[in-house]
Amino acid sequence: MPALFLGHGSPLNLLLDNTFTQGLSELGEQLPRPKAILVISAHWYTDATQVSFSRDVNETIYDFYGFPKALYDLSYQAPSDKTYATKIANLLHVPLVERGLDHGAWMPLHFLYPKADIPTFQLSINKNLPLSLHVKIGEQLQSLRDEGVLIIGSGNITHNLGQVDFYNIDATPPLWALNVDAFIAKAFETRDIEHLVNIQQYCDEFPMAHPYIDHYLPLLYVAGALKKEDTITSILQFFQNGSLSMRGFILR
Ligand code: ZN
Repeated sequence: MPALFLGHGSPLNLLLDNTFTQGLSELGEQLPRPKAILVISAHWYTDATQVSFSRDVNETIYDFYGFPKALYDLSYQAPSDKTYATKIANLLHVPLVERGLDHGAWMPLHFLYPKADIPTFQLSINKNLPLSLHVKIGEQLQSLRDEGVLIIGSGNITHNLGQVDFYNIDATPPLWALNVDAFIAKAFETRDIEHLVNIQQYCDEFPMAHPYIDHYLPLLYVAGALKKEDTITSILQFFQNGSLSMRGFILR
């Protein structure tokens, strides 16, 4: 099974028909059908690593505020997968907790798998870990790909909400965003885990692109899930709202 990193951008994309949403829909048609989907989302950012499950279908979590009502009328009721969730919780020695899907998970899935019929669960990001350990956890998830589980890291390659042009989705990206996007793309595509983990030392403009690191960290899990035989391809290479890189990667 391939693995993906996806930029999720603004929740408003849920109501739009644009290159991002069309690109996700096309990607969903190309991907093999997974047995289950595991999402590592920037929006489940906690004090400890946890795995989610739901007793029935996943609850849709509306963890965004002040958006049009039409967004809160949408839902993504994918089933849960307690078998895989339990397996991963045991593998990582972390707790299973009852929780639905946050928008970092259900927003891209709304376009990738619109029928919401594939069992889906999440792994949280422990905010207290050094960056190298996020890659290590990703390495432990790698074998799931052989079992038909689609691993998706969902964040953004550049994400500084203070610098986003909320009124113009097609605004021109600033130079710092272009630079950081190019730096991360080169490091990821060349499997340069050292530069990805120690990015704060190597990339001067990184703090501008990530004043908070939550949207960067999902990429490190996908870096860990990378296999020797994988080809890495950048997808959805454009910016939204000026400084939000929507670049993703597919590993297959
Ligand atoms: Zn986000």
